[in-house]
Amino acid sequence: MTEMRFIHETLGQRVRFGTGESADGVAAEIKLLGADQVMVIAAPSETTLARTVSADIPVALVHQDVRMHVPVEVAARARSAANDHRVDAIVCVGGGSTTGLAKAVALTTGLPIVAVPTTYAGSEATSVWGLTEGGTKTTGVDTRVLPRAIVYDAALMTGLPVDLSVVSGLNALAHCVDSMWAPRTDPINRALATEAIHALAAGLPKIVSAPESLAGREETLYGAYLAAVAFASAGSGLHHKICHVLGGRYDLPHALTHAVVLPHVLALNAPNAPEAEERIAGALGGDTAVRGLQELRHRLGAPRALRDHGFRENQISDAVDVILPVVPDTNSTTVTRDRLTYLLRDAWEGADPR
Ligand code: NAD
Repeated sequence: MTEMRFIHETLGQRVRFGTGESADGVAAEIKLLGADQVMVIAAPSETTLARTVSADIPVALVHQDVRMHVPVEVAARARSAANDHRVDAIVCVGGGSTTGLAKAVALTTGLPIVAVPTTYAGSEATSVWGLTEGGTKTTGVDTRVLPRAIVYDAALMTGLPVDLSVVSGLNALAHCVDSMWAPRTDPINRALATEAIHALAAGLPKIVSAPESLAGREETLYGAYLAAVAFASAGSGLHHKICHVLGGRYDLPHALTHAVVLPHVLALNAPNAPEAEERIAGALGGDTAVRGLQELRHRLGAPRALRDHGFRENQISDAVDVILPVVPDTNSTTVTRDRLTYLLRDAWEGADPR
């Protein structure tokens, strides 16, 4: 390397990481904000966790109306509930869908968010919001939606079923892989992503072999945070552009779509992205990046085929039409209609990556 020149922006938020310490952490953050009318957002399946986490804060209401991809009408209901109860802060306890709803409220109200994640999606560490209307998902970037603080507690993760943990952890791994070549990638993002891959590759197999054990949950949560920080700075690369279309347009499950598509994008890009190839292969301990990823996916029993999860063969050509115009110019490999068609077909039928 002869020259290093980059502009890197770090997002400002406090991170508290401590197993079994979420109630104390949330209480400390709410006190720092001076809030006394808190809206807790948690889906019905996370309400028990939310009760524990919010035991020591002044709760004005618990809002449970959470949907994946934040439909605009769901956002509108949450905003009016916040307004009716004159809330002055939000605590969200849940996965990316719950964090996403808190962000939708913050976007129009400016309310501060304390995020308590229960999946590895990483939305809590980005200033990206998303809303869905009539089958179209719109995303934007706004610092108002960045949670002021994140409270990570691996003890909250043990209830996340193994299959969801695996796909969510692979969603975090996708943040790392795409951060290697995304449009705003820089050496800091790539360093964070590499450390994140190490942590995810160490943690996820432990979750599969011992779901109740906290060690694997902690490593995976740590890796998921680093992955999201890298992704927030690097932006969306080819992989996220593809999954964004598949998830929003055909209503495919977010994390699972990432888990299935990732090896195919890696196989397409890695041959023309030598630094990414070396970093990913090294962190996964494979003789190539793709083989390292496939070995990990095999150990985890990861899903292989989108056709098993709602994507239809006759949707491939429509997906290609919508994805092609949004392929980043900086992508390491030229993406032609034929290549993208093969990639989606392979992901649809569960073929090995080419
Ligand atoms: P999710 O939030 O929909 O959660 C998946 C399922 O897991 C849900 O049924 C949920 O109730 C359940 N669950 C969550 N935590 C649990 C726990 N601890 N125990 C048991 N069950 C639990 O899915 P996700 O993958 O976390 O998030 C997906 C959404 O987040 C998508 O809409 C995606 O676009 C968005 N997202 C946004 C960003 C961003 O930067 N804005 C980043 C990643 C994901």
